[in-house]
Amino acid sequence: MTTPTDSQRMEKIVSLCKRRGFIFQSSEIYGGLNGAWDYGPLGVELKRNLKNYWWRVMVHERDDVVGMDGAILTHPEVLRASGHVEGFSDPMIDCRSCKAHLRIDQLIDKKGVKQCPNCGGKDLTEARQFNLMFETHLGAAADESSIAYLRPETAQSIFVQFKNILEVSRKKLPFGIAQIGKAFRNEINPRNFTFRSREFEQMELEYFCRAEEGMQLLDYWLKERLKFYENIGIPREKLHAREVPDDERAFYSKGTYDIEYDFPFGRQELEGVAYRTDYDLSQHQKASGKSLEYFDEETKQRFVPHVVEPSAGVDRTVLALICEAYAEDQAPDEKGKMEARVVLRFHPRMAPIKCGVFPLLKNNEQLVAKAKEIVDLLRPHMTVFYDGSGAIGRRYRRQDEIGTPFGVTIDFETLGEKDASLRDTVTLRDRDSMKQERVAIKDLPSILRDRIA
Ligand code: ATP
Repeated sequence: MTTPTDSQRMEKIVSLCKRRGFIFQSSEIYGGLNGAWDYGPLGVELKRNLKNYWWRVMVHERDDVVGMDGAILTHPEVLRASGHVEGFSDPMIDCRSCKAHLRIDQLIDKKGVKQCPNCGGKDLTEARQFNLMFETHLGAAADESSIAYLRPETAQSIFVQFKNILEVSRKKLPFGIAQIGKAFRNEINPRNFTFRSREFEQMELEYFCRAEEGMQLLDYWLKERLKFYENIGIPREKLHAREVPDDERAFYSKGTYDIEYDFPFGRQELEGVAYRTDYDLSQHQKASGKSLEYFDEETKQRFVPHVVEPSAGVDRTVLALICEAYAEDQAPDEKGKMEARVVLRFHPRMAPIKCGVFPLLKNNEQLVAKAKEIVDLLRPHMTVFYDGSGAIGRRYRRQDEIGTPFGVTIDFETLGEKDASLRDTVTLRDRDSMKQERVAIKDLPSILRDRIA
């Protein structure tokens, strides 16, 4: 149940996202496009850090995974074989009073009577299946023969390219194919900010294996994925591995876990980790008539591999990172008096801007020149933000609010005016502890690189 403080917290997060340029409503000046979001200058950096880190640990740091980048436009036969054309639907109900279209699980149950959550109306239509795929037409003829779909998940292009990638990569089982990209679902009710969108991004791995390895690899990938979330700053106690019961699981799956996070609006899914057996490859083999078998050179056997799939949402994870980072606390102002501050405590690895650079005074040429030198020194290694205007406390506060973990201040000590031993040193401030240390300018790149790696 969402408490008032949770909904207030969510409101503050949404407003900070807009005010500081993380996330905007798509097509906002035309009234907005429901279920679509645009990421601003800070949002795109955060999103990119997340995707790059996923790619690093899931592909670059492993010998057994290769990547691909498939097309969004998808042949209808692919999605017919996968079962999406027939079955990728949610049961939808209309409220005859307020005309709302509702997913069946959104209805309110009052003493066994179903009601509309918008107007409380009880005059509801029968449930009917609503297919969530976006259909489009290729070329000039808009008829049956030209139908294509925007992919509802990235996974299918991995299955369809399995044989090509197996041949070119010459991998042996078990091995995986990873992909990050857009997916589209015509959700009946997009809601909870970016949580349920109609256009979103996924980070998916299809990890192919022998049948007898499936259940063990499901547990392995669940652990790996939980570790991943901890490594980007989401504490273990806010993550939950829910074993999906038999009646909720896809009929072909032998085991599925949902990794859930405690959002301010409730505990909700971030990622699904599913053992999908050999269903997908077998379906495509049957429908296309092309062999998708693997030949085991040792046993001389041919068989269709099984697959374990960790499938994560980029946008949902970005939202979890922002929700987790958001904090309000107290920090000293110019005169050392405590004042309220809003701070995003991003893990340094995820923070959009890694380091703020501040000359103590904006109209002192020497301080400004030194600060610009430091910006040039750091820029090849990380995202840096130069801020010369306003009181230094204000400048810290502006960076705290966007989650910049480190701040470097160039003062008169840096110029060595009073004490030559301090020449070319700066203060390095930590966003969370607010502690300041004195470090040599030449050591800054390596000190900061270690802390953001
Ligand atoms: P849900 O039950 O919340 O609709 P799902 O179980 O249908 O999600 P999957 O098909 O398992 O989701 O997709 C894998 C991941 O893709 C999800 O865990 C989620 O992070 C992301 N995802 C799915 N649908 C959406 C959406 N409409 N908006 C944003 N992300 C989504």
